Amino acid sequence: MIKFLDLRSINKRFDEVFRKKFNDFLNSGKYILDEQVLAFEKEYAAYCGVKYCIGVGNGLDAIKLILKAYKMLGVLNDGDEIIVPANTYIASVLAVSNLGFRPVLVEPDMTTYNINSEEVVKAITSKTKAILGVHLYGRLYNIEQLEKISKKYNLLLVEDAAQAHGATFSDGRKSGNVSDAAAFSFYPTKNLGALGDAGAITTNNKVLADVVFKLRNYGRVSTYKNDLKGYNCRLDELQATFLRIKLKYLDSDNNKRRTIAQCYFDNIDSSNVILPFLEDINQHVFHLFVIRSKKRDQLKDYLHKKGVETFIHYPIPIHKQPAYKEYKDCRFSVTEQIHKEILSLPNNPILTQEEVKSIISIINQY
Ligand SMILES: *Cc1c(COP(=O)(O)O)cnc(C)c1O
Repeated sequence: MIKFLDLRSINKRFDEVFRKKFNDFLNSGKYILDEQVLAFEKEYAAYCGVKYCIGVGNGLDAIKLILKAYKMLGVLNDGDEIIVPANTYIASVLAVSNLGFRPVLVEPDMTTYNINSEEVVKAITSKTKAILGVHLYGRLYNIEQLEKISKKYNLLLVEDAAQAHGATFSDGRKSGNVSDAAAFSFYPTKNLGALGDAGAITTNNKVLADVVFKLRNYGRVSTYKNDLKGYNCRLDELQATFLRIKLKYLDSDNNKRRTIAQCYFDNIDSSNVILPFLEDINQHVFHLFVIRSKKRDQLKDYLHKKGVETFIHYPIPIHKQPAYKEYKDCRFSVTEQIHKEILSLPNNPILTQEEVKSIISIINQY
């Protein structure tokens, strides 16, 4: 069986150094918000090219803390509308509704699967205060268009960069540095994945960074002095230790994903399969390699029988989820078609060339 993603093997590459650094960690006696978190924040800010990085507990909390901080700063208010792509992972939308804002779902573009700028403009009302852009599957959203719209309509632009660590725009800016503030997840399956839950916020806005910095740790400024009603949302010291090791390999891992993607682009030749749209490969880190097929379910079964594991990201759109029954009468025809037709092929840094060739020939024989 060619696994979709073998986390044990992904991390096995770092076994030796993980064990050594774990021993150092164990012996340090410093287990919460200490030198590892501080060092990772510095390194990740430098990697993204931003002034500030604040480590937090996970990706959902990263989005929530950004929105909460803007609320505390009086920039956002209860009931404000925030535009979100209708085909994103549910966490993007949960962050918005959990904080008391109204998620306004907007159709994606059928070629890129990222939010459709024209539809964004149509969805803007007097209550719209922000756009939560998502670099879905690892592809940067349309930076120029969303920046233009957010400027023109005076909207915050927040990035959900959970799937796009390292994706680079044509002007050299990386994900995490193309908005007012960005949220990252380091969930184990992400391009930069911890060995547990972890996340971070990046921004160039000092005022926002200061608020988030306090919010993630009880709102405190010093041991027993609390400025804000905060949370416990800290990046774990041990996870920061692991992330520092893996960050050094993020670019080479992303390049391996691109090489595999290029191999799929060059060699998959099947009338049953629509390949992802490819423009500038640097703007994509292929967190997922997502194809489409009218016969998706049969293709998935066929691949399974031939020993290739695939996944669907995601099978149920948000407006069809019981958790969001208030959207159940909404129609999002592009989103619905995407959810019916998409299939994610294996693409990760430890996939061998033989495996990739074998997947291609199995697809081409379908
Ligand atoms: C993974 C993911 C999240 C949530 O991250 P967690 O660390 O699991 O909370 C949010 N948004 C997107 C697009 C994701 O892929």
